[in-house]
Amino acid sequence: MNNPKAIKSIVIAGGGSAGWMAAAALSVAFQDTDCQVILVESEEIGTVGVGEATIPPIQAFNNILGLDEGAFVRATQGTFKLGIEFVNWWREGHRYFHPFGRYGDDFGMTPFHQQWLRARFHGDPTPLSAYSLTEQAAFKNRFDRPPADPRSVFSTFSYAYHFDAGLYAAFLRAHSEARGVKRIEGKIADVLLDPESGFVRALTLENGTRIEGELFLDCTGFRALLTGQTLGGGYEDWTRWLPCDRAIAVPSPRLAELPPYTRSTAHGAGWQWRIPLQHRTGNGHVYCSGFMGDEQAEAILLGNLDGAPTGSPRRLRFTTGMRQHCWTKNVIALGLASGFLEPLESTSLHLVQSGITKLLAWFPDHDFDPAVTAEYNRQVSREFESVRDFLVLHYRATERVDSDFWRHCQAIELPDTLAAKLDMFKRNGRLIEREKDLFHEASWLAVMLGQGVTPRTYDPLADVVAPREMQAVLSGMRNVIERTAEAMPGHAAFIDRRCRATDARAA
Ligand SMILES: Cc1cc2nc3c(=O)[nH]c(=O)nc-3n(C[C@H](O)[C@H](O)[C@H](O)COP(=O)(O)OP(=O)(O)OC[C@H]3O[C@@H](n4cnc5c(N)ncnc54)[C@H](O)[C@@H]3O)c2cc1C
Repeated sequence: MNNPKAIKSIVIAGGGSAGWMAAAALSVAFQDTDCQVILVESEEIGTVGVGEATIPPIQAFNNILGLDEGAFVRATQGTFKLGIEFVNWWREGHRYFHPFGRYGDDFGMTPFHQQWLRARFHGDPTPLSAYSLTEQAAFKNRFDRPPADPRSVFSTFSYAYHFDAGLYAAFLRAHSEARGVKRIEGKIADVLLDPESGFVRALTLENGTRIEGELFLDCTGFRALLTGQTLGGGYEDWTRWLPCDRAIAVPSPRLAELPPYTRSTAHGAGWQWRIPLQHRTGNGHVYCSGFMGDEQAEAILLGNLDGAPTGSPRRLRFTTGMRQHCWTKNVIALGLASGFLEPLESTSLHLVQSGITKLLAWFPDHDFDPAVTAEYNRQVSREFESVRDFLVLHYRATERVDSDFWRHCQAIELPDTLAAKLDMFKRNGRLIEREKDLFHEASWLAVMLGQGVTPRTYDPLADVVAPREMQAVLSGMRNVIERTAEAMPGHAAFIDRRCRATDARAA
């Protein structure tokens, strides 16, 4: 028996990564139902066209869609990503790595890093990175798919992808259309509201076509055509915590070695990304317009490429923050329409994925129960805030005083949640986890330790393991990790063998 209140028509406004990720997920969720999914996009307006680095949960998203990993990597000129190398963030000339996966394996009664801290307090200088298989593989430019065996050292290993965002959207479009999603090309000229309820009833295109629906997803990018412009939803401006508001992106030739990681290099008023793809390298400079002009930012970007630029620099503007209510009436904002936290930890596509997953967990019926809407909004806000705190940590935990921008960053007032986390870590190395935290222990450890935040002592429970046993376990782990990383194939060789795009080298 069918529920008479079931939603039968979903309209997605916008066909960037957010629109097509939503279309692909909904096409799978509703493939055996009479619910129709329509996507409207305008080639004339185009997409933001950046968004090339991701984090490991994207594997789960692609799995839900039923994508074959090899086919996906080939189709998107993709490479594998084991983490991010941060250069010049703590101090000029200093570098550290934020690896995916975990450090070591817990033993005794505390998390692994407490045993490492204990050893350190007793004079063992081994860096935490020696216990990360992911980090060891990254710096050797190695990659392998982890076996499923939970007892293997590979259970601590994790990875994501770099890919061409435009090709990902195209790949998902083919996937969605094959499952019944209807795509309509055209520019949305008007959004029609129900005069009584204020709910969106239809979109009108410039050519006069009217597209009716029951549930609308606003994936129109920074324009936020439905949630922002039409329904007047407010935007929380977070520039007091995350001051960068401009970016310039430019491609350069492919790197021969294909490093399996993103590089983020801090400059005088922001930072530069380097993302290795099969056919090219993506580069961009994110900066704060209050401290640096566009011309200077472009000169710094072009002066720090690994090769000559292969296209014209593209300038983008943004305001870090999020929409006060991502779900309003019968409209849900996803992607840039819902907010933007700058790409420092490659979280935007994840927040799209997470918004879609939450929508499916809290899917409405015709009643649009306000309690459901409120819970969705609460969870989305909580996740944005947790990402914000993690990003703020990078700017705030620095000793750089060489520019007005970095001096400004050192004076950023910490959000209470981040202040509490930092305080506890400095006391005893313990990490406070909150509901919906996207980044877990290993990520916080990497960035805190990498940027000079060190605990005054360690968890007293770590001492329950006998010192000799502790040393034996630690050195055993180091050896296994070293040997396993050494035995992996080179990243470029792995791609050439398993998922090389047909035109990768030629391009
Ligand atoms: C500088 C920068 C770097 C980034 N790097 C990363 C990264 O490394 N990793 C990551 O995960 N994310 C990154 N992102 C974010 C990522 O690019 C976006 O989250 C992602 O592409 C989703 O964009 P979108 O689909 O919301 O918007 P868009 O790509 O802007 O798409 C908007 C869509 O709406 C359509 N549209 C708009 N108005 C109308 C209208 N009137 N009628 C019809 N159609 C309309 C457009 O045609 C388009 O199809 C980055 C973003 C920026 C700005």
